[in-house]
Amino acid sequence: MTEALSQVADRARRRLMPSKSYKPTKWDLRFMRIADMEVAQWSKDQSSKVGAVIVKDRRIISTGYNGLPRGCDDDVPERHERPEKYEWFIHAEPNCIINAAREGVSTLGADMYLNWYPCHICAGYIKQAGIRRLFVDQEPEWEHHKWGKGFIRAKTILEEEKDGQHKVEVVYMNYDAHRQGIIQDKTSQSIPNEKS
Ligand SMILES: [Zn+2]
Repeated sequence: MTEALSQVADRARRRLMPSKSYKPTKWDLRFMRIADMEVAQWSKDQSSKVGAVIVKDRRIISTGYNGLPRGCDDDVPERHERPEKYEWFIHAEPNCIINAAREGVSTLGADMYLNWYPCHICAGYIKQAGIRRLFVDQEPEWEHHKWGKGFIRAKTILEEEKDGQHKVEVVYMNYDAHRQGIIQDKTSQSIPNEKS
């Protein structure tokens, strides 16, 4: 990592750390489990299983996972191969937002639970949909050699508020997500105790 990039990452880390430590409630854990252990598992993506759940007043108003648009054949092997798959798959976050939109359900002021840290494109969608708080599984690796810059860009998009509003609060749940599928089951040890 270059010096300049490292400084950006340091600054971003300081700026982006939650100001107060947030202790997830049992409801947060419930919704994250649904996103991670149910919705994400419906994805046919063999490498990344991402699930999103939008919640208002403790009620799930939409779900989404990474997959092909409705009606498109997701059993065509070539559509699963990199880089071709990037042209076919819709990410979980926009799927979740669009699923609400097609039913006429407002996402304004809602929370999203996501078992993944969003890419910068999805960060823009989340913000534009009026999501107020984004619960993610864990803080990403800001200095990751390949994804670090993108993580920082996503965070900047989520948190910037030139107008003094429209900030998306990001909550890191320290939840050990199972993005590869729950077949590699370590659920019993990795899910934080609700009572703790
Ligand atoms: Zn994305």
